[in-house]
Amino acid sequence: MDKMELKALGKINLGLDVLGKRPDGYHDVRMVMQTIYLYDQITITKRKEPGIGLSTNLFYLPVNENNLAYRAAKLLMDEFEIRSGVDIFLEKHIPVAAGMAGGSSNAAAVLYGINRMFDLGLSTEELMKRGVSLGADVPYCIMRGTVLAEGIGEILTPLPPMPRCQIVVAKPPVSVSTKMVYEKIDSRRIVEHPDIDGIIEGLKEGDVTKIASRMGNVLEQVTVEEYPVIDKIKKLMDEGGAKGAMMSGSGPTVFGIFTEKSLAKKAALKIREAGLAKQVYVTNVHNARRK
Ligand code: ATP
Repeated sequence: MDKMELKALGKINLGLDVLGKRPDGYHDVRMVMQTIYLYDQITITKRKEPGIGLSTNLFYLPVNENNLAYRAAKLLMDEFEIRSGVDIFLEKHIPVAAGMAGGSSNAAAVLYGINRMFDLGLSTEELMKRGVSLGADVPYCIMRGTVLAEGIGEILTPLPPMPRCQIVVAKPPVSVSTKMVYEKIDSRRIVEHPDIDGIIEGLKEGDVTKIASRMGNVLEQVTVEEYPVIDKIKKLMDEGGAKGAMMSGSGPTVFGIFTEKSLAKKAALKIREAGLAKQVYVTNVHNARRK
C-alpha cells in the first residue's frame, strides 16, 4: 500500500469532570467521550526519500515537530527504523483549539495509518500505549465511540453507544488555551460536579433525553466567564429545541443534541445568522470503534 486516505474524527464530551491535579501537572479527569462525524481528511503517501513531509490547508498550523500528526509519524518511523519517508496532507475541518481533539485525532489516524502501511503488526492496544506519549486524548481517538475516560484520559472503558441523534456543533471565533482553563479551575473549589454516572445510566437505557439532561462540563463556567458568546450559543440551541447543549472540552465549541434534523438545521442557521459562529455544522454521532 503506497497511499492511504484516513478520516480523523472529532469528539465531544457528553460529560467532563476534573477530580484533581496530580504532582506531575496532569489532571485526573472523568469524562464521557463521544466521536462525531466531523473529520479531517488525512492522506499518507510513501516516498523514497527519507523523512516526513507534512502539509495542510490551514496556513497557520505548524508543519514540523510541533504538529501532532508529524510527531505520531516520527514516533513509529524512528522505533521501527523505517528508511523510506512519507508525505502527509491534513485537510482540516475540525475546528482548531476548540475542545474537539482535532490534533489528537490526527495523531491517532497517523499512528493507525503508518502501522498498516508499513505492516508494523501493532495491535490497537499497542498503538494506544504509544499514543498516550503524544497526548492524553490520543488513545481515545484511536479507540473511538462512546467511552468513559479516566486517569489523565487514557484509562478507557467502552460504554453502550450514544443513540442516534443530530449534533449541532458551533465554534465561536475565539481560541481557547486549554492550559489557561485548567489553571483557572485549579484556583477554585469545585462546588458542583457533573453527574457522570447519570450520563452512563442514560447510555445504558438508550435514552437520549436523559443523557442530554444529565450532561455537564466542569470547565464550562471558567471558559464562559472569558467568552460569554458560549452562553449565547447554548441559549439559541435550547430555544431551538435541543435536548441539551454544552461546551465541549475546554471550549469554546458548543454542541447541541437534537432528535429532529429539521430543528437542528434551523438552530444552526440561527446561530450563523446571529453572527455568533461561522463554523457551524449539523452532524451525527459515530459509534464504530477502530479494530
Ligand atoms: P483538545 O480537545 O484535545 O484540547 P483542541 O481542540 O483544544 O484539542 P487542537 O485543535 O488539537 O486543540 O489544537 C490545539 C493546538 O495544537 C493548536 O493551536 C495547534 O497549533 C496545535 N496543533 C498541533 N498539531 C495539530 C493538528 N494536527 N491539528 C490541529 N492543531 C494542531
